[in-house]
Amino acid sequence: MEKLTVSVKEHTYNVHVGSNTYELFATEYADLISSTDKIGIIADAHVAKLHLPLLKDALAKTGREISVKIVPGGERCKTPDVYVECQSFLLKEGFTRNSLLLAFGGGACGDLTGFVAATFMRGIRFIQCPTTVLAHDSAVGGKTAINMPEGKNMVGSFHQPSAVLFDTDVFKTLPASEMRSGMAELIKHAFISDASWSDELLNEQQFSAPSIEWLQKELLQGIKVKAQIVGEDEFEHSTRKFLNFGHTFGHAVEAASGFGSLSHGECVMIGMGYAFILSEKHGDIPSEFTNRYLRFAKHNGYTFESVFSYSFEELLSYMQKDKKASFGKMNFVLLKEVGQPFVQEISTAQCLEVFEEFKQRLESGGIV
Ligand code: NAD
Ligand code: ZN
Repeated sequence: MEKLTVSVKEHTYNVHVGSNTYELFATEYADLISSTDKIGIIADAHVAKLHLPLLKDALAKTGREISVKIVPGGERCKTPDVYVECQSFLLKEGFTRNSLLLAFGGGACGDLTGFVAATFMRGIRFIQCPTTVLAHDSAVGGKTAINMPEGKNMVGSFHQPSAVLFDTDVFKTLPASEMRSGMAELIKHAFISDASWSDELLNEQQFSAPSIEWLQKELLQGIKVKAQIVGEDEFEHSTRKFLNFGHTFGHAVEAASGFGSLSHGECVMIGMGYAFILSEKHGDIPSEFTNRYLRFAKHNGYTFESVFSYSFEELLSYMQKDKKASFGKMNFVLLKEVGQPFVQEISTAQCLEVFEEFKQRLESGGIV
């Protein structure tokens, strides 16, 4: 089991990655547990069916009674209705300002639980117990949110967890597309921070079907990048924006496809391809690097067909709604070189030009 400390201005907490991390409730976190009057788990329905005994058995060693609220699996839990249901559940169960919540699921359940914890009685403590590879990104950093009919993550807050217990034993039940989703965010962390780590990942044979031992080491590295950036810029005024590499175009594809046919990270993989072509023009990324990246993505099961499924106007309308767009201008995170991100404003005309070039490169490179 590995440990890493995240420090933001007024808050320091540990992230534990490995096997048997839930055992820490009865040891390292025994004082925290005994300082609470009530403990509740908010669990993703799908994850609960597969793995809840693992968490409950570990908590049983603390001798405490635990309340469990099951919420719909995946993104369907991030709704105002489920949020209100969770608040009512806590009130009926007699939770107070001294209570503790545990989030048990992927990024969706973590975002929901974090927002419930941030707002219940003006804020209570919570611990992230993430169950997806992608959650190495979402469980660290304190962003919490639910979706509104008008848009994703539109209501939320910053609320840091008291700890993150990342048990890698639960990954064995992750579907391949969810594994690809998380691995895309992992390589994103490499691209924005470290050229030689990026190179290693691009050459890695087990990238899409990783062994747990290898993955533990890599996730720790990814969390380090996220933790460092969040430590510098908790509220996304500057460098935290770099974590959005690949997300402006990726989100547009995700939104156009109605959220669901492709996982979030699979869309980010597409978005990074687009961002690399822009980085050839505004930075020093060689076109051969972009082509290598596209071949790597295809080889690992990522698909780019959806780039051809939507008109530029449709994708543009989503890119202009992107949270990073300000005063109607589109800002992209690009790379000067691998490991050196910066933010660049891009004109609509250039977005179109690069969209056409992206399609042409995908076809001529035999990627689609
Ligand atoms: P998710 O939480 O939607 O989970 C994906 C699917 O996998 C769900 O169907 C879930 O039931 C299932 N699942 C989860 N763990 C499993 C396991 N161990 N075995 C089998 N199935 C399992 O997806 P995600 O990719 O983890 O998270 C995406 C969410 O994270 C989005 O809502 C996104 O907005 C959010 N996010 C937040 C941040 C942040 O900083 N807060 C960062 C990135 C993403
Ligand atoms: Zn993302």
